[in-house]
Amino acid sequence: AKADGRGAIRTFEPSMDRRMHDQRVLQLDLQNATQNGELELLYQPQASVDRTVYGFEALVRWRHPTKGLLGPDFFIPIAEESGQIIEIGEWVLRTACREAATWPAHLRISVNLSPVQFRHGDLVQLVQSILLETGLEPTRLELEVTEGVLVHDFSRALHILRGLKALGVQIAMDDFGTGYSSLSYLQAFPFDTLKIDKSFTAKLSTDNHANEIVRAVIGLGRGLNIPIVAEGVETPEQLDFLTQERCQNIQGFLIGKAEPIEAYAEITGRGTPT
Ligand code: C2E
Ligand code: CA
Ligand code: CA
Ligand code: CA
Repeated sequence: AKADGRGAIRTFEPSMDRRMHDQRVLQLDLQNATQNGELELLYQPQASVDRTVYGFEALVRWRHPTKGLLGPDFFIPIAEESGQIIEIGEWVLRTACREAATWPAHLRISVNLSPVQFRHGDLVQLVQSILLETGLEPTRLELEVTEGVLVHDFSRALHILRGLKALGVQIAMDDFGTGYSSLSYLQAFPFDTLKIDKSFTAKLSTDNHANEIVRAVIGLGRGLNIPIVAEGVETPEQLDFLTQERCQNIQGFLIGKAEPIEAYAEITGRGTPT
């Protein structure tokens, strides 16, 4: 066996070596993905508990030339590691804002931000120039961040979040309840929305603990005057529970999957014949 660490891995763990190789190949493929137009955005509706759609979340996909349509869990971590998420994130933001600018003014757009986008370049400047360029009203843009954003460099992240908020955009805390310090971050920054992670929603009514946690988070939101979005709502029973607990908003397969925007032409008015 070779003396260096990589050689050792190659000798004893061929599967890990294989994975590293696959990752490197994907990373190379990803280099051209943005320029070649291989990225696509799908849009998933967000609705009030009475099922009225008020906006969409943009969710990225990669149409890989040979592997087919890849979901974000497959390539976002790789892009974050390589830094390619900066370019991808900018493309997502620009494309989503440009799209949303064509919708009726009551519809909002939510865009996910990676923690890596907070560590490089000037995110506030970027968002501002994309808003100007697309003509999208800032209040119609919501940026979704996980608490991972605040874990790395707390004061820098806080500064950027405040700068974004000063532009007039909304800030949502995504995957609420899955991290370790959601509550302390809630205290540190005035989030406009809390998104209850779908792992809690999925267990509603089959798991008493999940019921109590969701109930508590909804109560917390009410106390702090922050609207809640329950993610991953799939069944009418889950919706009933959430409605009863006075949760405001939902997202999930019950309302609609992430689809090309044309699938929601009836809501956006886009592409409907006049
Ligand atoms: P997320 O932000 O928590 O997005 C919600 C995920 O749950 C989406 O998966 C969505 O398709 C899925 N989902 C929605 N409703 C339901 C439901 O009722 N049941 C179930 N089982 N799943 C549901 P997706 O599109 O695969 O995205 C996965 C994650 O990738 C996202 O989680 C987000 O963290 C990340 N992501 C997606 N697009 C972007 C992007 O443009 N930039 C960055 N940085 N991350 C992104
Ligand atoms: Ca999200
Ligand atoms: Ca989420
Ligand atoms: Ca998630």
